Amino acid sequence: MNYFPVFFDLTGQKVLVVGAGEVALRKIVLLERTGAIITVVAPQIAPEFMQRAACGSLNLAIREFVPSDLDDSRLVIVATSHRAVNRWIAKLSEARAIPVNVVDDREASRFIVPAIIDRDPVLVAISTGGASPVLARRLRERLETLIPKRFGDLALWLRELRKATLERLRDTQERRRFFEAIVDGPASRRFIAGDLRGARSIAQQLLALTASAPRAAGEVTLVGAGPGDPELLTLKALRALQDADIILHDRLVSRDVLDLARRDAARICVGKSAGGAGTTQREINDLLISHARLGRRVVRLKGGDPFIFGRGGEELEALARAEINFSVVPGITAAAGCAAYAGIPLTHRDYAHSVSFVTGHADSQGKEPDWRALAKPGATAVFYMGLARLEHIVERLLAHGASPARPAGIIAQGTTAQQRVITATIGTIGTLASSAKVGSPALLVVGDVVALHSTLAWFNTGAASEADAAADLSRAG
Ligand code: SAH
Repeated sequence: MNYFPVFFDLTGQKVLVVGAGEVALRKIVLLERTGAIITVVAPQIAPEFMQRAACGSLNLAIREFVPSDLDDSRLVIVATSHRAVNRWIAKLSEARAIPVNVVDDREASRFIVPAIIDRDPVLVAISTGGASPVLARRLRERLETLIPKRFGDLALWLRELRKATLERLRDTQERRRFFEAIVDGPASRRFIAGDLRGARSIAQQLLALTASAPRAAGEVTLVGAGPGDPELLTLKALRALQDADIILHDRLVSRDVLDLARRDAARICVGKSAGGAGTTQREINDLLISHARLGRRVVRLKGGDPFIFGRGGEELEALARAEINFSVVPGITAAAGCAAYAGIPLTHRDYAHSVSFVTGHADSQGKEPDWRALAKPGATAVFYMGLARLEHIVERLLAHGASPARPAGIIAQGTTAQQRVITATIGTIGTLASSAKVGSPALLVVGDVVALHSTLAWFNTGAASEADAAADLSRAG
């Protein structure tokens, strides 16, 4: 991230604007609303500026810029039509550590001005870091249609309500839950529809109810984060992430998914690498219980589905023993997600009537899976955590009668932009995997369906792109 987003309180602060063209005017219109003391320096000045100066909303200096104009400035906006002059003023500002923006010259600017959606006091600012004004504009248009016009008034009303909650509700958590109920529920819907009385009465009832109810008990939601692509989260998972007070997540959970969580939620990585160190299961259980006992909404976030090689069951048993409320949000397990993105149907009327999910790890007692069943034709086997034991798996399958010609594939970092799919046969997959240096996490899929990848691959293949580009252009034209 190249830019740190901030909203600047300019009340009573001197802002220097050098230049008096169209662009400068647009900036000034915004600046005026902030209560800044605006000084415009330019040798020629359009009538709009004169009118504004006459109303007292800005000071005019009708002359060339001189360095002393920078004195006491909090912010400088440079918009003359001479690039060299702009850069010189930018340099002077930099030397005095005054944040400067040069219109249409990102390199010379210390700060850039975002596109905004204005629902004062709600402001949404959009920046592409200067990469694409078109993209920023499109995004703005979309958000404009999504955010109701009365959103600003809603914010003002919530501010008013805040005072009442400070007197009547017990702590920040309780207040947050109250506001979530207001914002997500009928009170704001009515407010936005213009039914202020209805909204107020719902809020009053809710406030009375919250103040008199026993303190909310904590709870744990066990959430499946899916295999990597954040868009594969369920709506419930997203909601849980947005409502969480604290999130305990595995190492496998992608950053893109975590980015969707409530910003203020505490995050603890309790990841275990395969066989490596990390938080022990016992410690994880204790953390879940102790946070829930403090009345918090705890999200236990796991890659894929929590009940598939995720020890979700064990954690819930501990919660049940401790009498903590819990619920489970299933996720797309790696086998389902990766197979879909690799174009490998796990079952198929012609090739496979069953699919087994198998862990490549031997379990703690060293128990082995039913190799004979896995080796049978007409079935698909998906091995989780199997790459380290690839040789062993291949050897066992062959020893139990699988044909060395049976298709086998590896899907690494499935559903993400880094996805790699390698297909071969049981006989050749071992050598191929080590020469291709596949990364983790990865799945091994064994069965005739793997051969369908050559016809059904669709994700990250590049094959579709030419046709898509042509279609896009004709649409745009
Ligand atoms: N609960 C998870 C599995 C946890 S075990 C689920 O339902 O998916 C971890 C194993 O899952 C990894 O070793 C790997 O075999 C597999 N895996 C998870 N995400 C993956 C991904 N994006 N691509 C390939 N394999 C993945």
